[in-house]
Amino acid sequence: MAITTDTIVAPATPIGDGGVGIIRLSGEDAQNLLEKVFHPASAEHPLDTHRLYYGKILNSFGEHLDEVLAVLMRGPRSYTREDVVEFHCHGGRVVMGRVLDHLLDLGARLAYPGEFTLRAFLNGRIDLAQAEAVIDLIHSRSQAAGNVALGQLEGRLSGEIYRFREVLAELLALVEAHIDFPEEEIDGEDHERLRLDVGEVLAGIERLLASFETGRLLREGLSVLILGQPNVGKSSLLNALLGEARAIVTEEAGTTRDILEENLVLGGIPLRLVDTAGIRVAENAVEKEGVRRARAKAAAADLVLLVVDGARPLSDGDLLALEACEDKNILLVINKCDLDTLPLPSPFAELQQIRISAQKGIGLDDLKDALVNLFSAGGELESRESVLLSDRRHREALLRSRTALKGFCGALEEDRSFEFLAFELREALDALGEITGETAPDEILNRIFSRFCIGK
Ligand code: GDP
Repeated sequence: MAITTDTIVAPATPIGDGGVGIIRLSGEDAQNLLEKVFHPASAEHPLDTHRLYYGKILNSFGEHLDEVLAVLMRGPRSYTREDVVEFHCHGGRVVMGRVLDHLLDLGARLAYPGEFTLRAFLNGRIDLAQAEAVIDLIHSRSQAAGNVALGQLEGRLSGEIYRFREVLAELLALVEAHIDFPEEEIDGEDHERLRLDVGEVLAGIERLLASFETGRLLREGLSVLILGQPNVGKSSLLNALLGEARAIVTEEAGTTRDILEENLVLGGIPLRLVDTAGIRVAENAVEKEGVRRARAKAAAADLVLLVVDGARPLSDGDLLALEACEDKNILLVINKCDLDTLPLPSPFAELQQIRISAQKGIGLDDLKDALVNLFSAGGELESRESVLLSDRRHREALLRSRTALKGFCGALEEDRSFEFLAFELREALDALGEITGETAPDEILNRIFSRFCIGK
């Protein structure tokens, strides 16, 4: 993607009635625009970099638009590595709108979504995985998810990827040297080194892949499906949990009328609760549609809360609901235990179960504990220190890299050609490079030349 340097502007804080609203400029004309609009109370232009100045913003007619704090961050010591200017205006639509319009009139362009971070990436300040982490961090809905994103932003994942790439690039240089100088045969020592080093990278990739389940759960939240017959108390349970939750976050975009999805945080754990309000698991076995849909929903969930009415005899519908999620992680929720409850028949009796009353709020703590325990059983929650893979794109790239490296190992054993070995290494390198966003064939060339004096 081509690097652009025109000057972009956008509010950096949400538009609304905040005490302060920040407007950010980045690009080659940022300082010039600052000097045009900003009139410092007790300083002269040009202003020093990285210092906060108090003053006014005036329009071209000398009209006072706002009283602000302004800061110039001269590149490359800025978020985008370009000249960046920030105005701390008074919050609120009208004031910020006026300042923004004025800057647009003077030639700034409204930034596209994410364009400041895009520039930070294109200008090499952060790599692609870090740029993705910025977005994840902003969208984090729980401490745990925030920690994963912060670790990635600090470059922990990238650091591992760079290490893998460095090892593989050196091996590629070795292999390619043999392609270029076929008279130099690969000796036993080189053969062993290729085998061991690739083995080590493969082990590292496996470690990252193994962390994906935990990383994903922390980042995306545990997906919990609430399934059960009509009137067993699913909505009441959802509401009770939402009422108890520390933070109700969002109602997911794209919710259909049938499926209601709520994000919440319980005991530091992000949960995505999916209520199958519209799915009726029909008692009439000929009417399979409900079962089919319930099964599809259950397949996508990490856990199914199978809700039954403990005060009524279980029905065929309850059995069908169980069948729809049979192979999943199931927690049986026996609701309405404030009433006289009946003993559970098999196979329900054998399921892990919790007795609650959604209406009276009984047993909700036990349910929450059970959820948290199920979650933490999947992996350690302490994510600040360990490198966790949390992004499907990264996982997919790592899988491709792994495939190529396994191909490499097989080819090495079979004494396949150097071209073939180099091909697999390049595949692996490219796949890894996709994670950090670099594709640098020059880097590989440089390594070859630095290792061998051509002409000697
Ligand atoms: P859904 O169709 O599964 O979503 O069930 P609802 O949440 O709409 O509840 C169905 C009926 O059961 C409503 O009349 C609720 O008031 C009632 N109900 C829900 N939970 C309880 C409970 O814990 N105890 C009692 N006695 N009634 C409940």
